[in-house]
Amino acid sequence: MSRIDLHLHTTHSDGSFRPSEVLALAKAASVTALAITDHDITSGLPEAIASGEALDIEVVPGVEISSFDGRSELHILGYYIDWQDSLFNDRLASLRASRHRRNPLIVERLRAEGLEVTYEEVQALAGTDAVGRPHIAQLLMKKRYVSSAKEAFDRYLAEGRPAYIARELPAPAEAIAWIREAKGLAVLAHPTWVKAAGSELATCIAGLKDQGLAGIEVHYSTHTKSQTTAYLNLSRQFNLLVTGGSDFHGLTKPDIGVGTGRGNLRVKPDLLTAMKEASIR
Ligand code: AMP
Ligand code: ZN
Ligand code: FE
Ligand code: FE
Repeated sequence: MSRIDLHLHTTHSDGSFRPSEVLALAKAASVTALAITDHDITSGLPEAIASGEALDIEVVPGVEISSFDGRSELHILGYYIDWQDSLFNDRLASLRASRHRRNPLIVERLRAEGLEVTYEEVQALAGTDAVGRPHIAQLLMKKRYVSSAKEAFDRYLAEGRPAYIARELPAPAEAIAWIREAKGLAVLAHPTWVKAAGSELATCIAGLKDQGLAGIEVHYSTHTKSQTTAYLNLSRQFNLLVTGGSDFHGLTKPDIGVGTGRGNLRVKPDLLTAMKEASIR
């Protein structure tokens, strides 16, 4: 049964498979269209587009930008962006610079915990400019300080743990504006990250919509049926597009497959029709 997957990471950020490898996995999973949404970088798109042509998979140019609204870290996906736009890429480079300011501080904390790691080792392992905590987790796995990325986050890297350092992040409004100025659609990724009780969630979504949000990632690997229904209702209430994706990363999230998530994800191809129409308006 055909499906799409609008949330995928590659080696150009913190995924462990190259764009061409992700496209091959997509083909095997009957994915007919996908978006590569690396964190803060568009450098994986040329390879993805070329593989898409070879494998007859439609490739939507994408990106995922981390933002902070004062309470929650909100990830904003950008679709159909003009990914070669120089202003947009300069803005993404400024986000990567904030990673390079934060990451050595994380490494310092890890060393204070007695782990022998250097930022040079992290950068060598990452092999990209968009270096993230999952790369640090991979290094800790490689050095056998932990046996999984989850353990690295639970023991050291997650908020509240000894090596957690916050990164300077743009406000959601700014991330949305950058995507819109690059002619893209801004979509709220994994909406469970919104820290909100009761009606606060709807208030948050309404605020984001006022700032230019175009859609919500309703379908997502970890969503329960009731979460999917709740986000679907919110998207209807605020006239937002419905999107969906696995958030595939490869080795650092080994339970998530391209196109299938934890096995029960299926994002229907017809969702793309509404997105395409909205993107050319
Ligand atoms: P960063 O963007 O460098 O702050 O790293 C955050 C990324 O780490 C998220 O986008 C996820 O992909 C990943 N991540 C966060 N928590 C975990 C976890 N518990 N296990 C594995 N990966 C995680
Ligand atoms: Zn990631
Ligand atoms: Fe995310
Ligand atoms: Fe993601």
